[in-house]
Amino acid sequence: MQRIVILGGGTAGTIMANRLAHLNRSALRAGQMELTVVDRDDSHVYQPGLLFIPFGKYTAQDLVKPRQDYFPSAAKYVREGVDHVDIDGRTVVLESGQHLDYDVLVIASGCHVAPEETDGMLGPGWRENVFDFYTLDGALALRKALAKFPGGRLVVNISEMPIKCPVAPLEFAFLADAFFNERGIRNKVDIQFVTPLDGCFTKPIATHELSHLLQEKRINLVLEFNTSRVDGAAGVLESWDGRQVPFDLLVTIPVHKGADFVGRSAGLGDDLNFVRTDPKTLQSLASPAIFVIGDATNVPASKAGSVAHFESEVLAPNIQRFLQKQPLRANFDGHANCFIETGHAKALLIDFNYDVEPLPGHFPFAAGPMSLLKESRINHVGKLAFRWVYWNMLLPGHNIPFVGAPMQMRGKRRPTVARITAGI
Ligand SMILES: Cc1cc2nc3c(=O)[nH]c(=O)nc-3n(C[C@H](O)[C@H](O)[C@H](O)COP(=O)(O)OP(=O)(O)OC[C@H]3O[C@@H](n4cnc5c(N)ncnc54)[C@H](O)[C@@H]3O)c2cc1C
Repeated sequence: MQRIVILGGGTAGTIMANRLAHLNRSALRAGQMELTVVDRDDSHVYQPGLLFIPFGKYTAQDLVKPRQDYFPSAAKYVREGVDHVDIDGRTVVLESGQHLDYDVLVIASGCHVAPEETDGMLGPGWRENVFDFYTLDGALALRKALAKFPGGRLVVNISEMPIKCPVAPLEFAFLADAFFNERGIRNKVDIQFVTPLDGCFTKPIATHELSHLLQEKRINLVLEFNTSRVDGAAGVLESWDGRQVPFDLLVTIPVHKGADFVGRSAGLGDDLNFVRTDPKTLQSLASPAIFVIGDATNVPASKAGSVAHFESEVLAPNIQRFLQKQPLRANFDGHANCFIETGHAKALLIDFNYDVEPLPGHFPFAAGPMSLLKESRINHVGKLAFRWVYWNMLLPGHNIPFVGAPMQMRGKRRPTVARITAGI
């Protein structure tokens, strides 16, 4: 009997459960394999939709579904918290003390915001003038605050990288611009985007395009700001180098951390509890029998659902090879694909990997229909359609036609340095 245990039944864990159930359907039917998914709760939140909640576009009901409905019927669901992994003993210890032995362990436990890591963030002002939108509770509370915001300074702040969906804070700033325009009070709102990065995005060509949009929308950029402290009572954000940014409303993207059990499992993670992972095979560096997918890894890819989906195309066959004692394929290229909502029913699209930064052009074919790094309505339709794709294609573990794990250069073009510098 072969035992596969998946820790986490979110985006990545659900995709992997479905892919592995499909690949091993005969063994599962014959009782030669056991597939178990562990998650501590039964509410699957469509996280990309959290962006729209503060602006009244979605409700909680639009985003939350029972996890179990998306697991394969051949998988056993254990609804419990994980305490730690005993790597030498090849067993998972649950919070109840129960042990789950494994032959293959898939860690898909994601990451979460940790506002307690920043001095003062949870102090006076939390959920009064200091909000996050990366949690359902936070996004719902922020919706009320935005609806009655009379004007003043709105600060969007990334505390520290890495974060989930690194473009979501920018999207929030763009949508805030559109929201206040629609409310007729944009002239009374000063929007500041405060980031630890040296540009509004991590890669130069996309940074150039996005900075242009920020200027157009009168969103001020504060760079290389490493947040040290939040003073909600005084309405001030402070950096380690002594700078201060005053705010009337702070929308924070707090420090992100991997699951706490990773920190309790000797040798598994780094200092933020991300699991140390081979970036190409997705095997853990702590043990050959442990594989990692999604936000839980420390690989230098974006923490995005699209990445989890592309990773699963590589990881599921690699787990099969491991079970059959064959060598793994080192072929995950870091492919990420993200829509960037820019407001007024438009969006950009970026497609990139470990080696190729987001480039302009067309997607998925040389002639489009979507445009890369350029605002369009069809990209916005793609962003909204992603919710359907998520529940009906991604989670069930289906491949998406023409958009697979290896990133394609088709449709992309490299602008010359002179064109970037000239802003063309
Ligand atoms: C605001 C926002 C906007 C986003 N926009 C996009 C977007 O436009 N496009 C995109 O591709 N991605 C987007 N993302 C990112 C995307 O949602 C995540 O990258 C994706 O959900 C990661 O999947 P995961 O399975 O790794 O983690 P998750 O889906 O978070 O799942 C982790 C699971 O592990 C479980 N778990 C953790 N610890 C334990 C424990 N100790 N015991 C038991 N269970 C445990 C959790 O309950 C959870 O169910 C966005 C995210 C946010 C927050």
